[in-house]
Amino acid sequence: MVIVLAQGTSKEQTAIIIKELEEANCTASITYGEFQNIIGVVGDTHNIDRERLAAFEFVEKVLAVQEPYKKANRAFHPENTVVRALGQTIGGDKLAVIAGPCSVESEAQIVGIAQAVKAAGANFLRGGAFKPRTSPYSFQGMKEEGLDLLKIAKAQTGLPIVSEIMSADRLDRFVDDVDIIQIGARNMQNFDLLKAVGQTGKPVLLKRGLSATIEEWLMSAEHVMAAGSEDVVLCERGIRTFETYTRNTLDLSAVLAVKRLSHLPVVVDPSHAAGLWWMVDALSRAAVAVGADGIMVEVHNDPLRAKCDGAQSIKPERFAALMSSLRVIAAASTRRIEL
Ligand code: PEP
Ligand code: MN
Repeated sequence: MVIVLAQGTSKEQTAIIIKELEEANCTASITYGEFQNIIGVVGDTHNIDRERLAAFEFVEKVLAVQEPYKKANRAFHPENTVVRALGQTIGGDKLAVIAGPCSVESEAQIVGIAQAVKAAGANFLRGGAFKPRTSPYSFQGMKEEGLDLLKIAKAQTGLPIVSEIMSADRLDRFVDDVDIIQIGARNMQNFDLLKAVGQTGKPVLLKRGLSATIEEWLMSAEHVMAAGSEDVVLCERGIRTFETYTRNTLDLSAVLAVKRLSHLPVVVDPSHAAGLWWMVDALSRAAVAVGADGIMVEVHNDPLRAKCDGAQSIKPERFAALMSSLRVIAAASTRRIEL
């Protein structure tokens, strides 16, 4: 942390700040400039209230030089985290492939898609039972019944389930029936939900908020981790920009940034990023080439009749072709795809 003092700050005023810093067990060193004095602070700055310091009239600026997240920070945890669920992994040298429909619609639909994506090489099944929809008149998901159907698909295929939670009221059901609890883009900063899910200790897939910076996203991961679950998978799913051709703009540079800043695994969801089915395979390949730990892809047997996100869903045949092409890229980027 660096504290810039205003011009003309007296020795007594400087001493007030130094005392505050020393009380927080930090070491302060002052650099006297021709016009302004600057205090460099080293030590665990965790306990220093930056806003309080900035409120002194003779403090011009308080600058952080360290990231505000600790548990998610690679500096404090250099080795990559590998998240495990039902014998499958996200992170490490095996590419994680999460595939399935936007929402669960019927037993035949979810079981059929689960079997098809498994045969093509997916290692997790996705499917929304509770859907966050922009319109209250759109399909809101099959809710508890959707979770029942996901359980049937899991029993038939052995694929671990990834599904989105919208309210902490349903936490018990999610803890019992879902292997990785998804927190959607719209809830990335629902701090009470983050805390409640974190307290369960279950693995969490945390999507990036629609307009969230990388630091805000990592701070949300920090909330989950501070509450108790250290198994957080970050999911880049596109962000809002001025461009309207695609649903969102896929920020692949975020994968590189997050891998540098954090030890947590990162997966890419090209379906919600592009919103267009025909872009999904090329963007998946780009995500793997850039170093993502996995992809999350929407697959539907009948996109024309899908109750949600048909325009961005690929058919099982196209998904199988995507998996074949991904094997080549995964191998070149030292990842493995089994099957
Ligand atoms: C989803 O995965 O179906 C979903 C709603 O995603 P997002 O929160 O990224 O919009
Ligand atoms: Mn969707």
